Amino acid sequence: MRYGICRGKRSRNRSTDLLIEKEVSPWETSPLHKIGWNASDTGEMFFDNCKVPKENEMGAILQNAASKGQMPAMSPGYAKLFTIMTPTTALLTLPRAGMGLMSVGIAQAAFEASVKYAKERVTFGKPIGRHQLIQNMLYEMNLLIETARLLGYKAIDAINKGDPDARRLSSMAKVYSGESAVKVTYHAIQIHGANGLSQELPLERYFRDARMQTVPDGTSEMMKLISTYTILGKGFSAYA
Ligand SMILES: Cc1cc2nc3c(=O)[nH]c(=O)nc-3n(C[C@H](O)[C@H](O)[C@H](O)COP(=O)(O)OP(=O)(O)OC[C@H]3O[C@@H](n4cnc5c(N)ncnc54)[C@H](O)[C@@H]3O)c2cc1C
Repeated sequence: MRYGICRGKRSRNRSTDLLIEKEVSPWETSPLHKIGWNASDTGEMFFDNCKVPKENEMGAILQNAASKGQMPAMSPGYAKLFTIMTPTTALLTLPRAGMGLMSVGIAQAAFEASVKYAKERVTFGKPIGRHQLIQNMLYEMNLLIETARLLGYKAIDAINKGDPDARRLSSMAKVYSGESAVKVTYHAIQIHGANGLSQELPLERYFRDARMQTVPDGTSEMMKLISTYTILGKGFSAYA
């Protein structure tokens, strides 16, 4: 890992985001073993006595790049967001909407496996898909996925249009889809019975990966507070 982005203190009352170059400002890391996303390494980062040049403030870097038209591979709408909100706020709209749609992908895979299994597995003389309680689970799973997908697409559409509502929509998409993926993958394991709990099938992985979705890039709680701040407006921040 050569670069890190971290939130640091700018002055007594203000924090800021910093791009930290390992060669210029050395820091230590240690691996963080986690419940899911095991295809992607995560490290804890330790910045003891780490000094960072002033020009490495993310806001300054992004504003400088935007003013020179040097923002990489960015739709005009996304670039516009950098001119109407702070660079970090604008930057985070995309990964949050993306996390929302990633949650939809995990949930969709678990749902499709469940539909297939519900047609194949027979108990009490009929496929479990003919039991009403299984049908209710499939209905709930499908509804959560459809709703989460629409919210994710709406957030991406707002980003592409440079609509300031992208902040609210991407925060809502991240919470709703992440929490929906947890519920959907829980039901998917239930539908698969003991097979769902085994490591022979990917259901337990979907469940563990879904559980990851509610913390990185902003916890569900912070996403709810940010969404509601955008609804109520200035003077109503619950976290500042
Ligand atoms: C896999 C992974 C990858 C990550 N990648 C990065 C990365 O690339 N860059 C980076 O900077 N960070 C990264 N993070 C860190 C991640 O952004 C933080 O873990 C996350 O923002 C939550 O912070 P925290 O863990 O310190 O929890 P805390 O902030 O300590 O929160 C603990 C609990 O308190 C709640 N809480 C906190 N404040 C409030 C409040 N004001 N009101 C209500 N509830 C509150 C939280 O919602 C949570 O439930 C990553 C984390 C993981 C797990």
